[in-house]
Amino acid sequence: MKKVRSHMSWTWILMVTFFILSILDIRFGILGFICMGTPLYLALRGKGKIHCAKYCPRGSFLGNFLKYVTIDNALPKKINTPKFRNGVLIFMLTVFGISLLNAGMNFNKIAMTMFRFMLVSSIVSILMGVFFKPRSWCQICPMGHATALIKKTQTNKNKS
Ligand code: SF4
Repeated sequence: MKKVRSHMSWTWILMVTFFILSILDIRFGILGFICMGTPLYLALRGKGKIHCAKYCPRGSFLGNFLKYVTIDNALPKKINTPKFRNGVLIFMLTVFGISLLNAGMNFNKIAMTMFRFMLVSSIVSILMGVFFKPRSWCQICPMGHATALIKKTQTNKNKS
């Protein structure tokens, strides 16, 4: 299989650009759908967790910068479990779904919902990176977990 080059050294720029543009004009918040959709799209195309390993802007940000400020504790065992990951995924999907329903068909409100979602999850990921290992968020990230589930389902399907 062709080896894919990692872009994790620079893709954090995309995350910073997203936040700057969205602060300047909230309509750019809609671009958050690309951020959420790309790992799922790649996983559905059979590429597994390639987004996490090679492209993810947030993973890139956490990996490149949090190493300078982290306390570097290990993530508590209770958090690092499939049950916890499932809980986070269901919680985030529910909150996101309700927020989108409340936004209706209003473009600006949808963009604001997306921006808020990205902002809150980024703040949580940074705080986790400070108190625990830099990329601790990746242990419970809903998108990372969803892509792992897609990969697992595809592998099981291929076996049967
Ligand atoms: S687990 Fe989430 S934050 Fe981490 S690299 Fe994957 S998609 Fe990005």
